[in-house]
Amino acid sequence: MIKMNQIQSYLNQHNELFGKELFIQPSKYVDKNLSSSTENKNSADKINQLYKSISIHKESSLGGSSNKFVFGIGDPNADLMLIGEAPGEKEDIKGEPFVGRSGKLLNKILAAIDMNRNDGVFITNVLKFRPPNNRDPLVSEINEWEPYLINEIKIIKPKLIVALGKISGKTLLKKDVSLKKMRSTVHDYFGTPLIVTYHPAALLRNPNFKKDAWIDFQWIRDLLKG
Ligand code: URA
Repeated sequence: MIKMNQIQSYLNQHNELFGKELFIQPSKYVDKNLSSSTENKNSADKINQLYKSISIHKESSLGGSSNKFVFGIGDPNADLMLIGEAPGEKEDIKGEPFVGRSGKLLNKILAAIDMNRNDGVFITNVLKFRPPNNRDPLVSEINEWEPYLINEIKIIKPKLIVALGKISGKTLLKKDVSLKKMRSTVHDYFGTPLIVTYHPAALLRNPNFKKDAWIDFQWIRDLLKG
């Protein structure tokens, strides 16, 4: 979304360079937004329908230490889809993915590559509810919930999928290998490029990983520009 102050600064700059006469060139950016507005609406409707059906059919999955479903959030027409593991305590309270400490770090990482979670980015998790005491998701839970994740991916149709952490990487790639082995490769997820990088919680636990994560996110930015 272009903001008023961006337009104002463009006009000031244009005025300084070219004087008062304004030359307007049709821009790809504007074209894309106009032509895809119906598509945007369709993806938003479809994703809302998916989440509504989960709320109706899976209500019994909540309970124990989980209060709310935590569905994906962001731009339904996103180029970049980030997939975490499962909501934590803060996410369970707010009903929104990555709003705790990991989420704050993720927001900073996205800002560093000139992106933000509301524009061009969609964030979701493998599980849509908080596992008891934040334990790792069980294989049975992943198997039960993976079809919903696959549906989300089909609706969003991102240009690039980024699995955050080993559990998300393992779920999507069906490989039980270390994060190190999954990193630094563009995998193919049924025709969509997929890369695996550190989970922000791992970066908080071990700041030594931040250097590699920064390399990955710069690479993500370049792949998206592609
Ligand atoms: N960790 C995750 O994997 N997902 C969240 O939404 C929050 C923390």
